[in-house]
Amino acid sequence: MEGDTPTPLSVALVSMPWPIVNRPSLQLATLKSYVEEKSTRKVDCFHPYLHLAKAIGIDTYARIARSGWAGEALFAPLLFPEMKSQANQLFRQSFARKDPAIGDFEELVEQVEKSVSLWLAATDIASYHLLGLSVCFFQLLPSLYLAAKIKEKHPFLPIVFGGSSCAGKVGASLFESFPQIDYLISGEGEEALLHLCRHLAGHEKSLQRNILSRQPLVKPDTQIPRVNLNDLPYPNFSPYFQEIRKLFANQIFIPMLPLEFSRGCWWNRCSFCNLNLQWPDYRFKSGDRMLAETVYLAKTHACLQFAFADNALPPQEADRFFTSIAATGMDFDFFAEMRVISAQPQLELYSRGGLRTVQIGIEALSSSLLSRMSKGTTVMDNIAAMKLADSCSMHLEGNLIIEFPGTTTEEIAETLTNLDFVLPFAPLQAAAFFLGYGAPICESPKNFSIQAIRPHSKNKKLFPEKILRGLTLINNSYLGDRMRQRKLWQPVAEKLSAFQHFHKERKNKAKHPLHYRDGTSFLIISQEQISGSVLLHRLRGISREIYLFCAIPQRISEILRVFPTIAAPALDNFLNEMTGKRLMFREGSRILSLAIRYHHPYAKV
Ligand code: SF4
Repeated sequence: MEGDTPTPLSVALVSMPWPIVNRPSLQLATLKSYVEEKSTRKVDCFHPYLHLAKAIGIDTYARIARSGWAGEALFAPLLFPEMKSQANQLFRQSFARKDPAIGDFEELVEQVEKSVSLWLAATDIASYHLLGLSVCFFQLLPSLYLAAKIKEKHPFLPIVFGGSSCAGKVGASLFESFPQIDYLISGEGEEALLHLCRHLAGHEKSLQRNILSRQPLVKPDTQIPRVNLNDLPYPNFSPYFQEIRKLFANQIFIPMLPLEFSRGCWWNRCSFCNLNLQWPDYRFKSGDRMLAETVYLAKTHACLQFAFADNALPPQEADRFFTSIAATGMDFDFFAEMRVISAQPQLELYSRGGLRTVQIGIEALSSSLLSRMSKGTTVMDNIAAMKLADSCSMHLEGNLIIEFPGTTTEEIAETLTNLDFVLPFAPLQAAAFFLGYGAPICESPKNFSIQAIRPHSKNKKLFPEKILRGLTLINNSYLGDRMRQRKLWQPVAEKLSAFQHFHKERKNKAKHPLHYRDGTSFLIISQEQISGSVLLHRLRGISREIYLFCAIPQRISEILRVFPTIAAPALDNFLNEMTGKRLMFREGSRILSLAIRYHHPYAKV
């Protein structure tokens, strides 16, 4: 632990709207525990989003937070009064059709302003020597607004920005455009924040290269060393719990705590993805460390619901983690994002450990599109993963990227055909393509029919033109085939919403829409149609055996090897019949049975 100034330097870290109310900021909790462990500095964390949720109501807050852009729009007129009418338009658009009764824009802007003023009045800002804002998804305008308000009263209090929305050129352009930011950390925060504290306390003359500052300092060539995730102290969520108890004293709140298993992504190749800008290298904790941290947090805060903040779980360490956590006897409920998993025993293991909800990167149901997206998966992999999640009683949250630039009519036709095979599985959500700054696609735009990169039309409704011109932002738009893509993808969007409607309205949700019961010499398959009617199919003898053999994707040559009594033409006829009825899916020489085995709704997986 280093020496300190005569007056210890204290730091305030702030997370502005719009994170989910029942989730504390992982960034704040991680930075607090790191800086306090490595120095004698005091770090206080604040979550003004809780105050705003209390002011406008938790339900209204949640609906605005879900929409993303609407939240930014509410802060735009407070920073740029001339943008009021356009921001109002964007706010309305964000709820059009889906959520018409959200409330009056101007009244909400007033409530936002009042909530921030009350929070400022109740917080002893003058007692801090540095104030940091963690800026992640849709927290940009709220953070800029708070920083500007603080500067009005405390012009000499240094303000530092950091977080996923401040990496690389994006952060540099924010720093250039907004004088309320004194320092900006690009990339990993722990060592950088510690270093900045030392600098402000007079212990360091220079600043590392990834800390932008207004002073003309000589920047050493060395980068700030990256932390070893296994050596990090556990995140400290106590300030969030204190605020929750104070603000919602009469409500029982059992938050979902964020966990961090890894930084970056072990795949890191998807052409549309810019999620790893902040983490150029991939690192992860060991399964044992993750286990100890999770059990500690669960017992300290009496919580069992956890969400991994990772872009993709680290596969081998995740195996170790879920094996050990299952042995604790605690009824955990985890959410995680991961790449497709094709091994049933692995997903069953995760399910026994408490993984209840998974977001699997499906993205497309056309093999050529998947290859242009550099997903490293095929349609067969995706459909097998969707089936597997249902078989393990896991809730799958999967997206299909629509309006992907350069999509051909053949790829749309392939997507529509393949969608019919996934009707029985958890429905996919349409995610409209956006051009993320730093995504590989930006490096070779012409390969994707992109002629020029432009500011996103929604950002034009938030920032005055002269400011927007100088900004590099995370969300962008492009000049190319956008209108054509919108038209082409319309039938896919319609089919996806029809599928969601089917799953929402099904009467007997306890039974999977496509399941089988095994009679050991025969199978009965029950297949619910989109109309609600149910078709029954019976397979006997070798047909049953082949159907069960193809519970995971199998090559036709392998089926012929395992079942030598069946001739190739007869097998082909059988498989054609099965795929024609959408009981099996075929891609090239691989085939998969789609029905999952019936489990009683109360049976444990
Ligand atoms: S989309 Fe997911 S899997 Fe692909 S590179 Fe990004 S984080 Fe990794």
